[in-house]
Amino acid sequence: MKKTLSIALAGNPNAGKTTMFNALTGARQSVGNYPGVTVEKREGYLHVNGRKINIVDLPGTYSLTAYSQEELVARDYLINERPQLVIDIIDANSLERNLYLAVQFMEMGIPMVLALNMMDEVRKSGKKIDTRKLSQLLGVPVVETVARSGEGKQALIEIALAEIREQEDGWRPLEISYGPDIDPVLQEMTALIQNAGFLTDTYPSRWLALKYLEGDVQIKSLGTSAGEIGSALEDMVQRVTEHCRVTLDSIPEAIIADYRYGYIASVTKQGVFIQRGHQERIHLSDKIDRILTHRFTGPLLMIGVLYGMFVATFTVGEIPMGWFEAFFTWLSEKTMEAIPPGLLQSLLVDGVIAGVGGVLGFVPLIMVMFLGIAFLEDSGYMARMAYMMDRVLRIFGLHGCSVMPFIVAGGIPGGCAVPGVMGARTLRSPKEKLATLLTVPFMPCGAKVPVFLLLGAAFFEESAATVLFWITIGSWATALVVAWVLRNTVIRGEATPFVMELPPYRLPTFKGLCIHTWERAWQYAKKAGTVILAISILIWSCMTFPTLPREQSQAFEMQRTAVLSRTPENPDAEIIRQIDNEILAIDNREAEAALRHSYAGRLGTALESFTRLAGFDWRTNIALLGGFAAKEVIVSTLGTAYAMGDVAPDSSESLGNRLRRDPHWNRLTALSMIIFVMLYAPCFVTVVAMARESSWKWALFSVIYTTLTAFAVSTAVYQIGGRFFSP
Ligand code: GDP
Ligand code: MG
Repeated sequence: MKKTLSIALAGNPNAGKTTMFNALTGARQSVGNYPGVTVEKREGYLHVNGRKINIVDLPGTYSLTAYSQEELVARDYLINERPQLVIDIIDANSLERNLYLAVQFMEMGIPMVLALNMMDEVRKSGKKIDTRKLSQLLGVPVVETVARSGEGKQALIEIALAEIREQEDGWRPLEISYGPDIDPVLQEMTALIQNAGFLTDTYPSRWLALKYLEGDVQIKSLGTSAGEIGSALEDMVQRVTEHCRVTLDSIPEAIIADYRYGYIASVTKQGVFIQRGHQERIHLSDKIDRILTHRFTGPLLMIGVLYGMFVATFTVGEIPMGWFEAFFTWLSEKTMEAIPPGLLQSLLVDGVIAGVGGVLGFVPLIMVMFLGIAFLEDSGYMARMAYMMDRVLRIFGLHGCSVMPFIVAGGIPGGCAVPGVMGARTLRSPKEKLATLLTVPFMPCGAKVPVFLLLGAAFFEESAATVLFWITIGSWATALVVAWVLRNTVIRGEATPFVMELPPYRLPTFKGLCIHTWERAWQYAKKAGTVILAISILIWSCMTFPTLPREQSQAFEMQRTAVLSRTPENPDAEIIRQIDNEILAIDNREAEAALRHSYAGRLGTALESFTRLAGFDWRTNIALLGGFAAKEVIVSTLGTAYAMGDVAPDSSESLGNRLRRDPHWNRLTALSMIIFVMLYAPCFVTVVAMARESSWKWALFSVIYTTLTAFAVSTAVYQIGGRFFSP
């Protein structure tokens, strides 16, 4: 005879567990107590095809956190006795509320079958539930039952046995996203638990981290007796709790519950109820969603919201941006006054101030944009956008879970590809994950935005918001088309069903918005002060050394002396102006010769022979090469390149004006560069993150195919544009 199997019956109180238990086991049962507690324990068995199956009727619970003795008993039984499967008996009259427990079983990872019980009452009330759909979305078998008459019990056992055979490879916990405030900490805590090996042989590590965040007393006391790990976890919980309190006016436990219900809501919204009964209570969030996620009004409103956000960003952000620009101009003037011309002055003005200032100058604009994003996120609207986008993504072979990575990476401009790439972890199908990883870097991240803003403002000034709007649309379109191509060629494969969390709408608090905005802006500014500073100095060195050979700089010096020697005894103002201009022209030629002579200049010039096809001169090449290290560097390097190679009238004029004045630049050049920056290789840090999430092979593939695509599209636009429109 084969080994005995055991199956646990779980569910909310009064869902019909005991009735089902009786129906299954008949008289073959015994009643006792769980050790040490007064909770009643019923066990029984039945035979199927000569195989003995033990059935345990667990106490009724609403949750699996150690709030009550019943919950603790149910959980301990599952963890310690390790039954092969749980049958979760659900009162189908209130499906959503009952699914809350089911989701927790799924998060634990124990194999499960759902019994939709009380179907007789459901049918009577006029409700219709699409169980096939429910099963497909949750990825769990679902059986309709009426425990009182025994209907469905045969099927229930058969499906349970089939599921046990299928799930032999162990527990597979479901991972729900708990939003931008909880997710990062959860990830950190999970890693900590895993590395420390804290209870990992009995519980899934992410589940343990979740229990800590939910304030589970039992798990916490286990942590305390384990020593250091316990206090480290408690510290992390305390930090995030404080954070959630000030930003969202909530606690992690409540947020986690919200997202679980959100997950359930997004399942049931996808046509699980073919017909809702009359008595179903409709929440305010659901009412709002009827409009905001409506098939037609939803997408329209979404586009309106995004467009409004861009317009606001520009109109509000422009003012403080002017102040910043003025400040850095003033700073370089003062530095030039204080320090004599030479390498040190050039390092400070062209390297440090141009580099760091170029990045910091965009802080005000980016802050306004981050404020908008924080509002969308905190209000719960962001999740709805993802929910609506799922219908679109599906067509292109992506998954609803790809939406969050896309949005985080800059699907609404201003994100960062690195968390986007890491966010792709929530995708369970490796192929959909890979397609997401490879297309996420197309999003306009916060570091690319300054390039768009600079060129948009300089060459498309009356419609900068529109430029950014179209860049967003263009980036999405590219990402989707590329995803579709990848999914139909190198990473072909099946689509998997989608479930996403829809947390209830709530009015963001002012303080929460400020903190979320500040956190992101600070990340951006901090990067400017550290990584970007270092890269700026490195690039400045490449653009300065080797310096011009002595003979050449002497030749320029002689030209200057020659001009000055022509000065008459008593020059009038006109002559002085002329001579000044001649000197400036010589300085200009010298600076350009020096830049060309430098390492960066040589590389840029060498590439020019074919980048010219896309309209990029050697200076642009230098900037774009810098962008491989970090996209923030593009604008600052361009600034340095133009500041170094150009000492014309006002050497502290803004880069935008400088470019507009340059004969090489026009709308078409700007457009070509915008497109290239939109599409070309992800920055170095993103590439490393991608390699970690997939493999170096795919990371390198990404660098190459994006750069080739970018160059091809830019060249096409530049060539065709130049042919048909005179810019
Ligand atoms: P438990 O708390 O989960 O063990 O629930 P019980 O098995 O004690 O059932 C609670 C009540 O629901 C009892 O009155 C049962 O007769 C009733 N009940 C159980 N299953 C069904 C069903 O499928 N249909 C109907 N109409 N009532 C049921
Ligand atoms: Mg009971």
